[in-house]
Amino acid sequence: MSVTSFHSSRRKWDYIPEYALAQTPRYTSYPPANRFTTDVDAIKAGSAIAALPANAPLSLYLHIPFCQKLCWYCGCHTSVPTIADPVEPYVDALIREIELVGRIAPADAVVEHIHFGGGSPDILTPDQLKRLFAALRSSFQVSRFAEIAAELDPRGACEEVIEAFATGGLTRASLGVQVLDSSVQKRINRIQTEDQITAAVRLLRSAEVASLNLDIMYGLPGQTREHVIETALFVAAQDADRVATFGYAHVPWMKKHQNSIATAELATGEERFRQAEIAASTLETAGYLPVGFDHFAAPGDSLVTAEREGRLRRNFQGYTDDNAIALIGFGASAISSLPGLTYQNTTDTSVYKSEIMAGRMPVVRGVEHTQEDRRTGDLIERILCEFEVDVPGDLLIAACPQLIPLTRAGLAHLSGTHLTVTDSGRPYVRNIAACFDPEFVRSAGRHSLAV
Ligand code: SF4
Repeated sequence: MSVTSFHSSRRKWDYIPEYALAQTPRYTSYPPANRFTTDVDAIKAGSAIAALPANAPLSLYLHIPFCQKLCWYCGCHTSVPTIADPVEPYVDALIREIELVGRIAPADAVVEHIHFGGGSPDILTPDQLKRLFAALRSSFQVSRFAEIAAELDPRGACEEVIEAFATGGLTRASLGVQVLDSSVQKRINRIQTEDQITAAVRLLRSAEVASLNLDIMYGLPGQTREHVIETALFVAAQDADRVATFGYAHVPWMKKHQNSIATAELATGEERFRQAEIAASTLETAGYLPVGFDHFAAPGDSLVTAEREGRLRRNFQGYTDDNAIALIGFGASAISSLPGLTYQNTTDTSVYKSEIMAGRMPVVRGVEHTQEDRRTGDLIERILCEFEVDVPGDLLIAACPQLIPLTRAGLAHLSGTHLTVTDSGRPYVRNIAACFDPEFVRSAGRHSLAV
């Protein structure tokens, strides 16, 4: 199928360079990381955990910062193991951290979500996974209906590892598909065949992992719209329950390995925008419903229900129906978000292990939330999740200089204090949300492209 024939029946997104090329935060948390300071330490983090309400619904995140091979586009905190076996002592430290925090948290808090991210959690051995699940269940009250999710690399998700995850209660897996075309795969140092992906899908289905999320990317070096369509049709054919689309963020000054990517081969401007558009239109034509600005879900999926019922949220993993009031992160670089406080563990794996083994929480930075932060964060989350919202008058007045040009461009509509993101404005919802973010106005230019 050619791009032209596929695309001709779809309503086109309006390309507005001023907004499409603007650098905007992804708003997976608020306040943003550029507000983190070393004023937030282990004592403040421990106090915030201890002060969580009894019966608080909790979400736990475990960061596994290791991969078999480094993809050059990667923006995560990860590395390829270079010494004999760095994973085992890291798992020991993770278990100690889980036990440490478990002793501080209210005993009757209920864990409703657990997420293994990375890195590649499939690098863990079945025995390491068994020990981690045992530590989680002995340190916390884990709901028997808890959603347990893991990010898996199709190249490493072998039968034994998937079985170990399934035995631990895995309910959702996210597989990174990214792009199928082999020439693009070479340019990003991530060679994986369709057979490897379909084998991982088959193993997860036969292990009765209920929900499957597949990630695809656009804006990669040498990638074309045909490549995007090919990959989007492939993930639809795998019967994925959810698909997330990500635009490649080229930040070699922050991620040195991205220097291996040829800048001249990156789609820029309208071509990148059209790749995002054709990913969306291909998935929608295949029967998926858009959720937020970059997720797509099968009509019966719980994300769709959450969006319809006004329960959709954003957290570090993107859109979610997780309604926990606190997300506690374990592992090097993990970020925790509690009522009133966000904090981050050290990114240095060695420091992380030594701090934990000395019995200290390895917290190095964070931010305490002011009342204004909470109002701004709530408003931004509602805009990104619901696409319409009643805006408190003072926040609307403060946002007007940035917002009015977007309403004039037809991307948003104001009726009194009621803000609606129009159909044309959906690709630009991050630009609209950013109008209400005083941090963004001060720090414009340091984020990823809006589309
Ligand atoms: S597998 Fe994922 S986390 Fe690991 S290098 Fe590739 S993109 Fe990064």
